[in-house]
Amino acid sequence: MIKDNISEVKRRIAAACLRAKRDPTSVKLICVTKNRSGEEIKEAFLAGITEFGENKVQEALSKQAIFGIGQAPGSKLQAFLHLHMLGHLQTNKVKEAVKIFDLIHSVESLRLAEEIDKQAARINKVQDILIEVKTSPETAKSGIKPDATAGLIKEAAEFRNISIQGLMTIAPLADNPEKARTYFRMLRELRDKITQAPGSKLQALSLSMGMTNDFEIAIEEGADMVRIGRAIFEGKI
Ligand SMILES: *Cc1c(COP(=O)(O)O)cnc(C)c1O
Repeated sequence: MIKDNISEVKRRIAAACLRAKRDPTSVKLICVTKNRSGEEIKEAFLAGITEFGENKVQEALSKQAIFGIGQAPGSKLQAFLHLHMLGHLQTNKVKEAVKIFDLIHSVESLRLAEEIDKQAARINKVQDILIEVKTSPETAKSGIKPDATAGLIKEAAEFRNISIQGLMTIAPLADNPEKARTYFRMLRELRDKITQAPGSKLQALSLSMGMTNDFEIAIEEGADMVRIGRAIFEGKI
């Protein structure tokens, strides 16, 4: 049952917080609904999930009735349901993306930030974004190189219609979740370096890291948001 899986995930989040001496309410659970049916999503919603993550603009749009997108602004569902864009975002999809997503986790270039700023300005929105960092050398993964991150943030911070909320990373899949720790730690240290740099105007940057395989390690390393799909919809992995 999805409801039981969610309880179990929440219990594991709380336990990881305790180990790390963190407040269990400080970690946001994002339920990743890519490739999941409307029925499954509704079940998660009825079990108390309010943060949902999708990987593709088109798929999120096709589920708009389920997510309450397109309802009158300020409607009840819109007020407490939040939608996260987690996948690679193409510039030609930005126009639709800014209309539906509360937080875009996957900004990895100045060009993309610029387009988001432009399209958000057209609808009078300040779009919250995260910068996706490629913490592992694995080539298939997207994101900006760690040593280029501070520079991108500095330039993107000039845009008036985006607001940089933090950093995101995806650790490479490994049989042992401990292997992900280096990458999560790298993201946290990068964040600390950026926020503590002299003259930095960014006081707080959140960390989006940790998925089904490795979310407990991510929490121990300081994750503020975990993005979980399989543990919720498929149960014990
Ligand atoms: C699919 C996906 C997730 C969720 O992964 P699970 O292993 O199903 O928990 C999280 N983040 C991103 C970017 C994803 O693409």
